[in-house]
Formats: sequence, C-alpha cells, structure tokens
Amino acid sequence: MRRKLAAGNWKMNGLRASLTELSILAADQDLATCDIVVCPPATLIVWAAEVLGASQIRLGGQDCHAAPSGAHTGDIAAGQLADAGASQVILGHSERRANHAETDEMVHAKALAARQTGLGAIICLGETEAERDHGITLDVIARQLARSVPDGATGANTVVAYEPVWAIGSGRTPTLAQIQEVHARLRADLVARFGEQGGAIRLLYGGSVKPQNAAEIFALPEVDGALVGGASLKASDFGAIIAALCAA
Ligand code: PGA
Repeated sequence: MRRKLAAGNWKMNGLRASLTELSILAADQDLATCDIVVCPPATLIVWAAEVLGASQIRLGGQDCHAAPSGAHTGDIAAGQLADAGASQVILGHSERRANHAETDEMVHAKALAARQTGLGAIICLGETEAERDHGITLDVIARQLARSVPDGATGANTVVAYEPVWAIGSGRTPTLAQIQEVHARLRADLVARFGEQGGAIRLLYGGSVKPQNAAEIFALPEVDGALVGGASLKASDFGAIIAALCAA
C-alpha cells in the first residue's frame, strides 16, 4: 500500500511572517492520515523546522546541487538542506528546467546527491503544451522518467510528480482521462524497470490543484497525491486539499 502524500511547493514566495500559515496547518493536521511535506524557500527551512516542532509535517527543499560542496555561488547542497531540517527535495521542476536549463541528466545527478545524504527526491516531469498538441506526451514523459530517475530508485527514496507545464499556475488542468493515461504509463515503466519497488514509488499529480478539483483527481487510480504550488501558500486551501487526499 502506498501512503498518500501531499507536497506543498512555496516556490519563491514567503517571508518569516508566512510561517504563521505553517503553524495553523500543523495544528489542523495533527491527525492527518497521509504524509505531508512543505517545501518553503531555503531561507525559511530552519525557522519552519522550529515552528513545526514535533508535528508530522516534514520539510523539503526546492532544488539542490549535484556536488556535496564547493565553489558554486548561490547553490545549495543536498547535505545543507538536510542539515537545515529538510527530509525531501523537489528536483527537475519545470521552472528549473526552463529558467535554469536543467536537463534530465542534471536532474539525475541531483537525485543521486539527494540519495547520498538521505533526502527523498520528488522528481518532476511533464510535457509542454506544444508537446501535448503534437501528440507526443507519453514519449516525452517516458523519456524524462527514464533519464531523470537514477537506478536503485525505491518507494523510500523517490517520488515522481507528473506536472504538465501548461497546467502549472494557469488554472487549467488536464482532463481526468489525460491524467490517468500518463500515470498509468509512468507506473508501467516504473514497474518494468524497478520491479516491486517500482510499484512502491508514489506518483503525484501537480498543476493547478485546488480544493475544488482535488477530490476528483485523488479518486484516480495511480494518483498517490499532489504537488501543490499556489494553493499550498494558505493553510486553509492546503488543509482542504490534504483533507480530500486523506479521504480518498
Ligand atoms: P500550481 O503549481 O499548483 O501553482 O499550479 C504546481 C507546481 O508548480 O508544483
């Protein structure tokens, strides 16, 4: 049985004052029956860990460098995220792929770095609108999966998030059939490559998940949770999404 997972990605949003949302969420979600991860900006991780205390909500980074340390101005190593209190890291988000020219090979190297420090990797992939229009969505996501996820992936060290680029922050979501089609392909490829562990790796959907559409998405087979951007910034919205997930 895969435990359901709600992951919040704050992106480049949030100051110390935003941690109030985290304390509200922690108080509300004390008894949640699914896993919850919040990925605030790296500047907030240490303070967020303090605010969360013994809460079951875990923290994640939004990216890490592939090297353990060194002359990489502005970058953060996986071990530094872990040291700050993170247990997960988002890798290969489409905004990193687009804005920082991250390739599948770079994401692969970062995932290995995360694994070496004991951070769980939430590896993101998804097609652009042009790729969907050209009917090559399944080829694109299969290629990203094959190249971005390193050998030795297990349910414990890897989560895969399907995030169509055109659905992120746009208020548009794929049809349920489209989500189901991609998740079925991802699951088949994971099982073919990793066997039993491929069946244990959680598959998240991400892109304009809101309290209003969460339940129908979570009812789909092979959807084990969500990676939530905008709607994770407010405890009330993210809490409603978590409630829908726990009830699914
Ligand atoms: P969104 O972002 O929920 O704001 O669409 C999702 C993501 O980028 O992870």
